[in-house]
Amino acid sequence: MSLIVQKFGGSSVRDAERVMNVARRVVDTYKAGNSVVVVVSAQGDTTDDLIEKAKEINPKASKREMDMLLSTGEQISIALLAMAIQTLGVNAVSLTGWQVGMKTDSKYGMARIKSIDGERIRNELDDNKIVIVAGFQGINKYDDITTLGRGGSDTTAVAIAAGLHADLCEIYTDVDGVYTTDPRIVPEARKLTEVSFDEMLELASLGANVLHNRSVEMAKKYNVNMSVRSSLNLNEGTYVKEESKVEKTLVRGVARDNDVARIAVCNLKDEPGIAFKIFSLLAKNGINVDIILQSIGREGFKDISFTVSESNAEKAEEILTAEKSYLGFEDIKISTNFSKVSIVGSGMVNNPGVASKMFEALYDANINIHMIATSEIKVSVLVNKDNADAAVKAIHDKFNLA
Ligand code: ADP
Ligand code: ASP
Ligand code: MG
Repeated sequence: MSLIVQKFGGSSVRDAERVMNVARRVVDTYKAGNSVVVVVSAQGDTTDDLIEKAKEINPKASKREMDMLLSTGEQISIALLAMAIQTLGVNAVSLTGWQVGMKTDSKYGMARIKSIDGERIRNELDDNKIVIVAGFQGINKYDDITTLGRGGSDTTAVAIAAGLHADLCEIYTDVDGVYTTDPRIVPEARKLTEVSFDEMLELASLGANVLHNRSVEMAKKYNVNMSVRSSLNLNEGTYVKEESKVEKTLVRGVARDNDVARIAVCNLKDEPGIAFKIFSLLAKNGINVDIILQSIGREGFKDISFTVSESNAEKAEEILTAEKSYLGFEDIKISTNFSKVSIVGSGMVNNPGVASKMFEALYDANINIHMIATSEIKVSVLVNKDNADAAVKAIHDKFNLA
């Protein structure tokens, strides 16, 4: 007998028919002799709808109240799924984040899981029930509800799998697995049989939202046996595994991230300490900076531009503008007209031609590059948002990923 954690995303439970479909799949796994913990997301677009509802009332609602609101989406799903399973004659119980002791830090809207008290889940499993847990939510030291960031139910599932030492954590979604790129952008994209934790972590962090990046981080840390597959068919999915167990490739996949803003700080004095002053101010205020570009100095002045997520752009501008005389710049400009397109592959280390081949693909497609960043297993470029899909296609073709 195995302990299996199965997570179903929003599209997999979007209406009564899909909830029944999930109930049948879960019951099949249970009847095959396994203990089953199920994690579910809010139905369909519920989370987006709740965000809109809040905006109608208070566009600057506090993060605490947003979490109180958004967590309700998952609470609906768990109750409905428990009811659906009960119609199939199997005992099931639904539990919220606080009921399963999902402890997080206090960063509302982007909380990190600190610990999970598995006792309640274990007791319910011992009673032969299917346990259904609300994804995406936890509780902080003030007993307030927190949420884990968009897409966070994947992380709930992996955390439970790690905490209970589950044999397998299956992430069920609306595509057959992890593809070489988003199959909605490139229909010829190929499903991967396996991908390493590091590659998946990069892909997820660079915009492949098929998995929440923190779920991969956690799966790697606790060595959780993890797969991604479709809730709508029985096809085998993609296994996410330790590096040493996955064959290296030059490029495993292409990712696109539209949540990018570029901030250009212009005409700074070309003297020591400027970059330190800018980025320490941003870091102190919890703003994550991604790609950084500094121009060559001219006549004692230089420009520094960098990217942040769109939601942080205004705050970053405010922080820097408030310190304009300390930093000594002339002008600051925000642009949200960019996307980041990246290639990821553990085999690209020590293979010098990879980046240039990516740039050639963009050149052939007449797409201009605004910024570049590289690491051992990725190359990212900033391109105009309008060109992003074409860039993904061109790069995908160039590396023959289909
Ligand atoms: P869920 O609601 O099940 O959590 P998500 O919408 O979060 O589903 O994630 C699934 C979606 O991720 C797919 O529909 C697909 O459009 C998108 N996606 C982005 N990149 C990839 C990729 N490399 N492979 C597969 N799907 C991807
Ligand atoms: N319901 C949340 C969201 O839409 C969490 C999730 O789906 O994983 O982001
Ligand atoms: Mg998701």
